[in-house]
Amino acid sequence: MATQIESMFAERLSERKRRLEDVVSRSDNPDDIRQLLQDVDRALDKIGKGTYGLCEKCSEPIEMDRLNVDPLLRYCLDHLSASEQRALESDLNLARDIQTGLLPKKGIALPGWQSAFHYEPLGPVSGDYCDIILNEAQDSFFFIVGDVTGKGVAASILMSQLHAMFRTLAQSGFPLSEIMGRANRIFCEASLSTHFATLVCGLATQNGNVEICNAGHCYPIVVRKNSIETVSSTGLPLGVACDSKFTTTALTLGRNDRIVVYTDGLSESTDKTGEQYGEARLKTLLRTSQVSFASEVLTTSLGDLRNFLGNVKGDDDLTVLVLQKE
Ligand SMILES: [Zn+2]
Repeated sequence: MATQIESMFAERLSERKRRLEDVVSRSDNPDDIRQLLQDVDRALDKIGKGTYGLCEKCSEPIEMDRLNVDPLLRYCLDHLSASEQRALESDLNLARDIQTGLLPKKGIALPGWQSAFHYEPLGPVSGDYCDIILNEAQDSFFFIVGDVTGKGVAASILMSQLHAMFRTLAQSGFPLSEIMGRANRIFCEASLSTHFATLVCGLATQNGNVEICNAGHCYPIVVRKNSIETVSSTGLPLGVACDSKFTTTALTLGRNDRIVVYTDGLSESTDKTGEQYGEARLKTLLRTSQVSFASEVLTTSLGDLRNFLGNVKGDDDLTVLVLQKE
């Protein structure tokens, strides 16, 4: 483990030790705390020996996102005791249910638009964010697809933070660029400097006007009857720099025009030869497929990805959102 990380954990553990010693001196029943103190000493001892962060069973590194949450961990995920495994499984199932509850409703009624989305975590929980938020007057709505760095539990916690932020900011009445600026500042201040989120946020009105901001995310694809275009990125991902500015792109969509927003779990899926699915293949598919509804666009796109991958399983969270003007 890198020395810098070791000294970070040494600092955290020493702080924990000081606090525990303080509590022990004031406690009537200090046995449990003494046990914890022993655990902290054992971890500090390992740092001294250079074995901190390694599983006591297999000597492989313990997962860093787990160590960050509990620096006293002694075993990697593969070597948890049966009761620890059951507890973890039950926590993850609960986390999955909570995260599923944060998704927009399937078939949500939108003013002048159809929507369809697919949200597929790689593990029990996802670092992808997908949301549709109707404004109060119900004549426009925000749509958001984002991707937090990393996967698993740590990423899913940040995903739920994005969800809470955008749910609040969407009702603020601020212009889209201002909403993105504020979301970025909050995300910067509240998350680890190693974590950021690429994200597309759009505001669509009943009459087909769409404003889109792309913060370092895969390019959304706009499909019209005789043309296809992408919305390139105009800002840094959220969480990279606190004072980032965001600009937006304005579009007008006519009847049956579509917007497809997705995460790199689609475009960067890799088949057994190492080839990536890619934006170009998706664009060709979207230009040529003869379908009428948003839900069909979604099904066709996912079907094409499955055909491309064959037996290979995806290795990232996957989200695809399709909006079609009625
Ligand atoms: Zn192990």
